[in-house]
Amino acid sequence: MTPRFHLKPESAGQGMTSQRARDRMVDRLRSEGGIRDERVLSALRSLPRHLFIDEALASRAYEDTALPIGNGQTISQPWVVARMTEALLEHGAPKKVLEIGTGSGYQGAVLATLGLEVYTVERIEELLRIARRRFRNLGLNLRTKHDDGRLGWPEHGPFDAIIVTAAGAHLDRSLMDQLADGGTLIAPVGGSATQKLLRKRKTDQGLVEEDLGNVVFVPLVSGII
Ligand code: SAH
Repeated sequence: MTPRFHLKPESAGQGMTSQRARDRMVDRLRSEGGIRDERVLSALRSLPRHLFIDEALASRAYEDTALPIGNGQTISQPWVVARMTEALLEHGAPKKVLEIGTGSGYQGAVLATLGLEVYTVERIEELLRIARRRFRNLGLNLRTKHDDGRLGWPEHGPFDAIIVTAAGAHLDRSLMDQLADGGTLIAPVGGSATQKLLRKRKTDQGLVEEDLGNVVFVPLVSGII
């Protein structure tokens, strides 16, 4: 697949933020991270993650680590983004997806790069403003909302997929109500130190719940700022 995003000449080929750095990250996600879905790997290969973090940290953009994005929040680790995206696409062919916790915008941008229609909700206005600018600069078309996303975005539901990128003690019922039949929801659920990444699917046989392993996310917080 040809990269969709063309970097400005002065930033292309600049060591730590180059296409090569991204290629190496993707090779590691495949060989060490066990990520198999080529659609996901190719989206991560084409999307410049360094544009989703502060310039001062850009040289670390292709390390497999979460990084601070301000307001006490973090951009998720590439492996977590890849794994969650893969898990979301594994069953069915989702078209419309809701993300709770826009943050840097990277996870949402990965989903949009995969051709999904993305709705994303963020409670911190400042982060959302910066994420919106990134989407615009990359020519990505996501629908964004400044709100407490714990109750989803009912006006636009049902969604084929829902991805929650902050951890709550439980999942709100109204979020499950916004999941379409056949749809998949992925969310970290648990305490503040560590959580279980849960996948819930609405199948013909009823609700199927799986534990995809332990993860660490920033907390899902109520109210907006
Ligand atoms: N998907 C993001 C991850 C950011 S961290 C990325 O790729 O960068 C999680 C984000 O969830 C934070 O920005 C945090 O402010 C946001 N968040 C926490 N609670 C929320 C809530 N109730 N509604 C919406 N966003 C929330």
